[in-house]
Amino acid sequence: MSSPHTLDSGTLYVVATPIGNRQDISQRAIQILQNVDIILAEDTRHSRYLLTQWGINTRCKALHEHNEKEVSECYIEILLAGQSIALISDAGTPLISDPGYYFLTQIHAKNITVVPVPGASAMLAALSVSGLATHHFTFVGFLSAKSAARKKQLLTWQKITHTLIFYEAPHRIVASLHDMCAILGEERKVLFARELTKTFETIQRHTLQSLYHFVVADSNQQRGEIVIIVEGMPSSSEKELPAQSCKTLEVLLQDLPLKQAVKLAVALTGERKKALYQYALEWKERQ
Ligand code: SAM
Repeated sequence: MSSPHTLDSGTLYVVATPIGNRQDISQRAIQILQNVDIILAEDTRHSRYLLTQWGINTRCKALHEHNEKEVSECYIEILLAGQSIALISDAGTPLISDPGYYFLTQIHAKNITVVPVPGASAMLAALSVSGLATHHFTFVGFLSAKSAARKKQLLTWQKITHTLIFYEAPHRIVASLHDMCAILGEERKVLFARELTKTFETIQRHTLQSLYHFVVADSNQQRGEIVIIVEGMPSSSEKELPAQSCKTLEVLLQDLPLKQAVKLAVALTGERKKALYQYALEWKERQ
């Protein structure tokens, strides 16, 4: 894009909008939404509140999972004729568990320019505060609504060693946590992020088992919008060593070279050198 105030013609802008707090929108997003010829919104009535707040009067049309195939062609013609369009969803970044995939495949097939206008996404907001490994992660999104299918899906993620990110609907949260405990294991560390950036924002760190009990015990936790972030399958050395020994080694690793830290950890904890060395290598890689 040439300058913040001019738009490129015949371009599709994929614009992120807030996931709750309406202040979480960029200046650039507002300018683009004010200046494009058409905004395509998942739900025009829902987006109207946000657009009005930011003084955006641009013509707004619906593009959602039920009409995407029907209407895509028409908007592609409009883009090819040189007009500019912005795509938004109800919340966060379009296409992240949101409509637009079919439309985008057609757009790319016609070599139309697509420009991202980045901003909020619930998965990254939750991951950023999770304290779980962020160097590799898998975004799973929504699991199946049916328990048998959900368990089968969880089995495919069971042995993944990096962080897993799930979206979940409030009425399925108890059942899903139950299945996660059964398939992923009750001891895995987890972050529960509910109603991020909103009045009842809740951010809790637990094991899967204690999160399950926390959510079951309080029906308020079964409301609103939820992201669950689960640590990947612990490595074999992590399973072998007591948590306190891992902690001791981690503290030493923060100030000492690896070999020296392991040597001291052997002396302090009495654990096997091989297991501590392996744990140190894996810990270093995670940093
Ligand atoms: N496009 C959105 C994004 O970029 O995050 C996601 C849309 S998806 C249809 C809606 C799901 O995202 C919710 O069911 C919930 O899992 C998650 N989500 C959206 N807003 C959230 C919030 N404020 N707090 C926690 N989770 C949220």
